Amino acid sequence: MHIYKYIIAGAGPIGYHVFNIFKDKSIMITGFTKKKISSKNLHPKIKLQVNKYTNKFSDLYRSEGNEFHIYSSSEIGGNTNYWGKKFFDYNINDPWPKEIFKSYKVYEKNLRKIDKIYHSKKANVINSVNAGKLKINQIQPPLVTNSIVKKSIINKNSNKVIQDRIISFRKIKKNLFIINTENTNFYCRNLILCAGPIGNALILLRSFIKIKYVKFKDHNPRVLIGFRIKNFFIKNDNNNQVLDFEIVKNNKILNYLTIYNLNFNHFKKFYRPLLSFFKNIINKFFYYGQFWVVDEYNEIKIINNETIQVNGKNKIKNKKNIYLINNIKKIGLNIIKILSLKKAYGFHYHCLEVNYGGQLLSLNKFLNKMRMSKNIYCFDSSVISKIGIKPPTKTYIAVANYLAEKLAIASLKNK
Ligand SMILES: Cc1cc2nc3c(=O)[nH]c(=O)nc-3n(C[C@H](O)[C@H](O)[C@H](O)COP(=O)(O)OP(=O)(O)OC[C@H]3O[C@@H](n4cnc5c(N)ncnc54)[C@H](O)[C@@H]3O)c2cc1C
Repeated sequence: MHIYKYIIAGAGPIGYHVFNIFKDKSIMITGFTKKKISSKNLHPKIKLQVNKYTNKFSDLYRSEGNEFHIYSSSEIGGNTNYWGKKFFDYNINDPWPKEIFKSYKVYEKNLRKIDKIYHSKKANVINSVNAGKLKINQIQPPLVTNSIVKKSIINKNSNKVIQDRIISFRKIKKNLFIINTENTNFYCRNLILCAGPIGNALILLRSFIKIKYVKFKDHNPRVLIGFRIKNFFIKNDNNNQVLDFEIVKNNKILNYLTIYNLNFNHFKKFYRPLLSFFKNIINKFFYYGQFWVVDEYNEIKIINNETIQVNGKNKIKNKKNIYLINNIKKIGLNIIKILSLKKAYGFHYHCLEVNYGGQLLSLNKFLNKMRMSKNIYCFDSSVISKIGIKPPTKTYIAVANYLAEKLAIASLKNK
């Protein structure tokens, strides 16, 4: 029986980053599954890239009532196989992970470390308009220029990258854990959970029958459709996606918005020859966008392997902040309609909480209660309680880097 020092659950940007730090002493389990899932209810952007039936998702859940589906990509690189590559820093007035870094200075220092590993173009404010106390900034987002996952590292360590899916784990004696996967069992001293809140939630539910439910948060995305007066769309190499806007008050970001040229492939069903003829004209005048509102979340509750509940209503409903978005008229983007989606297309999954025997505990507190906190760690967004509304992955990697380095130092001291 081989005992690994570390087993890393998950091969998304977080699992991969942690694996890179511990690769001499660890294996990484990617989440690859043999079961095929219908891709019918996936996000349109992702559906374009997968077949009708796919095994590129470890787990995919749909809550019938809410037409809601959440998933965890089982590919190496996780959801960054489909992402927009935006790599933002949060400023001091945005929610940044205070519980991890304690001071903004420490958070910033860790962001600079991440800059050295993953390069991105600088964010660029193209235009700024004052609207009373508000400021509307039109920004070109910072995009990652090199790949998050390096194939050379995967190839060199192919014997340590295990294409399998963790079902559950169990303590068999002090400092020894058995990890059950779809195909086999592994043994380790330490398990590092990096399967994202969905993956982690399901591993926990299958490992502890006394857990009543697990829940996590996702920023609530809203959609708008409109027509433009000015043409300030910039095409970048990353599909037709265009420009971002932020609405700021007293240096605090209240709305964050991305405007897209209409992508007709997203609406294939409606893509008739007549529409095709008018495509260029329609694209010239119309746009659609996705926006986020500060302090708006969907809450996703996973009760067991089959049931999820989604609180599509926002926990903190702030109508004033939603309608602030109307201010983008001042920069030439007229709005026809604002839609409220009850689907979690935010992908800012974070803040895992476990209901164990009626008590709601953060993941770390739960592991502490189980007396496992010295062997089971979690370095992904599951341990972050609040996050800014701009895309979060850079901050998630900075958190993982910080926690993994701390663990590496503690492990050296204990030798
Ligand atoms: C369409 C889209 C656009 C996005 N755009 C951006 C953007 O522009 N900028 C940005 O910052 N963020 C963006 N994101 C979000 C970004 O992709 C996530 O923040 C990031 O992928 C989270 O990383 P992670 O490693 O925590 O989780 P994930 O990427 O979800 O990876 C989880 C990993 O865990 C594995 N796993 C799951 N279950 C198991 C199991 N049972 N056993 C073993 N392994 C398991 C999975 O296979 C996967 O490898 C976007 C996401 C999507 C879907």
